[in-house]
Amino acid sequence: MSEADGKRGLSRRVFLGSACGGVLCLYAATAATAQSKKMTRKEVGYRDEPNDGLPCSACALFLEPKYCVILDGAISPNGTCNYFAHVE
Ligand code: SF4
Repeated sequence: MSEADGKRGLSRRVFLGSACGGVLCLYAATAATAQSKKMTRKEVGYRDEPNDGLPCSACALFLEPKYCVILDGAISPNGTCNYFAHVE
């Protein structure tokens, strides 16, 4: 094996190692998110009426048809909470 072949093999191993590491990291983050506990209505200050015309349906954390990324259980698309996140 020449020096160039050795470097190519090392580069390939480094690349493959990085790619696998990224996949494992993504898997771990997804699993951690799936297992994390969502907050209660009281913890987020949830209300069934929109605040200043900012309903859940316009929030970046809203999940169709009636769920929220951070809040446990079903919500109203017309509700709101203290964690309203503007869609960019
Ligand atoms: S305002 Fe956003 S973060 Fe708050 S309950 Fe509604 S969707 Fe969830």
